[in-house]
Amino acid sequence: MRTTNVTIVGGGTAGWLAALRIHHAYPHAKITLIASEEIGILGAGEGTVPLVTKFLGDLGISISDVVKNCSATLKLGILFKNWCGGAGEYLHNFAPSETLDELSSGVNAETIECVVTKYKHLDDINFSAKLIKNKKAPYTFIDTLSFASNTPEQSMSCHSFPALHFDANKLAAYLKQVAIHRGIRNVDAKVVSFRTNAAKEVYAVEIEGGPDISTDFLVDCSGFARLGLGKLHNEEWVSYSDKLPVDTAVPFFIPHNNDVAPVTEAIAMKYGWVWKIPVRDRYGCGYVFDSTHTNKEEALAEAENYFGMSLVSPKEFKFSAGRYKNTLVKNCLALGLAQSFIEPLEATSIYVTCNVLDSFCYANALNTWDSKFTQEDVNEPYGILMNGVATFVHLHYITNRKDTAFWQEFSSKYPLLEETETAITTLKNHPKAELPLELHMAFAEQSWVKILSGLGRVEYGFPTTKEAETYCAALEKNQNNVVRSCMGHQEFIEYLETS
Ligand SMILES: Cc1cc2nc3c(=O)[nH]c(=O)nc-3n(C[C@H](O)[C@H](O)[C@H](O)COP(=O)(O)OP(=O)(O)OC[C@H]3O[C@@H](n4cnc5c(N)ncnc54)[C@H](O)[C@@H]3O)c2cc1C
Repeated sequence: MRTTNVTIVGGGTAGWLAALRIHHAYPHAKITLIASEEIGILGAGEGTVPLVTKFLGDLGISISDVVKNCSATLKLGILFKNWCGGAGEYLHNFAPSETLDELSSGVNAETIECVVTKYKHLDDINFSAKLIKNKKAPYTFIDTLSFASNTPEQSMSCHSFPALHFDANKLAAYLKQVAIHRGIRNVDAKVVSFRTNAAKEVYAVEIEGGPDISTDFLVDCSGFARLGLGKLHNEEWVSYSDKLPVDTAVPFFIPHNNDVAPVTEAIAMKYGWVWKIPVRDRYGCGYVFDSTHTNKEEALAEAENYFGMSLVSPKEFKFSAGRYKNTLVKNCLALGLAQSFIEPLEATSIYVTCNVLDSFCYANALNTWDSKFTQEDVNEPYGILMNGVATFVHLHYITNRKDTAFWQEFSSKYPLLEETETAITTLKNHPKAELPLELHMAFAEQSWVKILSGLGRVEYGFPTTKEAETYCAALEKNQNNVVRSCMGHQEFIEYLETS
């Protein structure tokens, strides 16, 4: 079956990413994106992972494009504060280049054990942690490269491929502008229903006050309205609320002086946690909590006390962790919130959208969606990915923090999962061991090690060798030299803005 007419419903991040990715893979498809300006977009989702930067880059959208148009800053990882019962913190950073990272380099397990024994904690000899502490970007300016570069960042040497923080509203508006420029048709209308044939395949979209829009394939990016897999197909829902009880988020902004570190902060609170994401002109923040323990007013009061300022939150987001069993059902693919949502911790939602779009395009699913094999090629990895994300996120809450009923009850009500026990057993003595695909697909071993050691669930402490100590000293010296050569984060952002 050759599909020529694609209709996307929804103009948030998911909808416009879908439009651009499908257009890139199928330049001859006629793509129409229908979204209602009146309904608007959610406007949340400002933290990402490096794969999203790469996904955008493959679509011809560079880091400097996002910096210039979407108030972006760099993200080298997530700093977890107050999760372990004291005021301590640990970092989950993205992997820098091999010569600068203790975990991604080719050294053996004994050396890593030495690193930890000598330096007490993985973060003490962590290149990204040093950059974050010094508010630096992982880029060294090398003027001689500039003649060969398409974007300002390509005129620099990059030591760690970054993720981005951005203003979600500005990102959706910018992606829309790029997509329309590339020939994608945009219709501002409310979708009323879908017309389907006897096999329940969609052949037209009914919009309010207009003629039907005929289609061969539907991409549902309608956010929490969940028009496709939810309302039309009544697809089975796989709930994760048996392990992830947080169900409400209260967003708010706080000001900053522009001199921000390239990191998301995740601050554990009495009944959940607060994200603190630096974009160019503000921190976007939000308290994510379990509504059986607190409510919007109390959560905001607790956040006000923590930040020492009065806060305003015009919104409250309600959600329940879970996903549709399948993401491709007949000729309907769902993405973004219309497909799944776990919770904001670890910023996985846009990452899942990009991941599913890639597997959809690699499987040539636009033309072969009616094949059982294609459906499996898209749905199976999606299921594994989502389960892996849920397992990984759940691990973060199994901590020694016990100051409120939320933290006291968490470990008994939502105990350590069997899969997580496997990860602990595997990585306990060998931090470079391989995890099974079900665990590895969402987050690589390095990420598991960072969280497990940050939470004190695995401790590496073995006798060191002279050779390993020499290696560590050289690694640290190299890290310090490179950090010194890197541009300041603010300087880097300003350079991209003005280039
Ligand atoms: C509190 C919170 C924090 C989050 N933080 C992160 C994060 O840090 N990182 C991350 O990756 N993800 C995060 N997410 C998820 C993120 O918001 C989504 O992945 C995505 O970026 C935005 O969602 P969307 O495009 O699926 O939906 P939306 O932005 O809600 O867009 C839905 C679109 O559908 C349209 N629509 C709906 N109904 C109709 C209709 N009947 N007719 C016509 N149009 C219609 C709307 O107008 C809109 O254009 C967060 C989500 C929440 C709730």
